[in-house]
Amino acid sequence: MQGEQTDSRKETVTVLIPCYNEQESLPILFERMDALVSKQVESGLKYTLLFVDDGSKDETRQLVREYAQHHSYAKYIFLSRNFGKEKAMFAGIQHVDTDALVIIDADLQDPPELIPQMAELWRQGYEDVYARRRSREGESWLKKATSRWYYELLQKVSGVAIQKDTGDFRLLDRKCVEALKRLDESERNSKALFSWIGFKKIEFLYDRDRRVAGKTKWNYFKLFHLAMDGITSFTTLPLKIATWSGIAVSFVALIYAIVILVRTLVIGVDVPGYASIMVVMLILGGIQLLSLGILGEYLGRIFMQTKNRPNYLVEEQNISQWS
Ligand code: UDP
Ligand code: MG
Repeated sequence: MQGEQTDSRKETVTVLIPCYNEQESLPILFERMDALVSKQVESGLKYTLLFVDDGSKDETRQLVREYAQHHSYAKYIFLSRNFGKEKAMFAGIQHVDTDALVIIDADLQDPPELIPQMAELWRQGYEDVYARRRSREGESWLKKATSRWYYELLQKVSGVAIQKDTGDFRLLDRKCVEALKRLDESERNSKALFSWIGFKKIEFLYDRDRRVAGKTKWNYFKLFHLAMDGITSFTTLPLKIATWSGIAVSFVALIYAIVILVRTLVIGVDVPGYASIMVVMLILGGIQLLSLGILGEYLGRIFMQTKNRPNYLVEEQNISQWS
């Protein structure tokens, strides 16, 4: 009975904030976070802010360190270099001991003022309260469209329900956090993992703002890699497609070989057909390269995982005693 009670306690909320070169956003973020924390007593929640600095090269660390000196509810982990947002989030997840964890961007695209509403849904019994964007201010048409197509595809191939138009902005119950701690795969796509773990989910709509300052750290190259992580970590379907197209092409090639053989025997040697040879060569070459590429994507990820390196390294932190 005692154990059950502690398991379902709904008091402490940790806000996880991955930061990478966010010196312009941080002062505004601090202000809005302070406002949130100052209302914690009436809401019956106890907030902790956990900043994970992902190897920033600007003043981010100094700002966070200074802020933490004056605010006991501010904790931080500084990673030894830039590991990427995925690993920064994982570093945070692995270090917390909290009834609920909220993940939020440092650039204030996700309004911290919504956290009490998320906590309200959590109190009603939901375990993964994820924010769904009603609008995406300041994002290009291309980014929106590619993101939508990708998630439709991922949903189809993975067989796991993937939430559309959501980011990492969400509140996770302790149960989800404990589940995520166990998923220490090296090539991470959190959005896929949030779906994979399951639990009682609910969405709530919000308007995603523009960045308050600075600029996005994503580019299409990074996004492509993240997208591939999503697919390869969920399904081996591309490998199967490679196999099946190999079989189909071989079958057609065999029939064509028989046709040519018979024709040569019956009609005699023909003038060689340059066009048909080129077509067959190009198609086969293309399929072979594509299949090799697909194999490579999986192999590379197996390689990264088998090296068994830690997902991140911590350089400095002030959370040795979590309170
Ligand atoms: N971020 C990080 N490591 C990185 C890149 C980004 O921790 O290598 C953080 C960044 O500081 C921000 C969040 O991840 O708090 C989202 O980044 P960004 O705003 O660049 O992404 P977008 O909102 O454009 O998807
Ligand atoms: Mg952003």
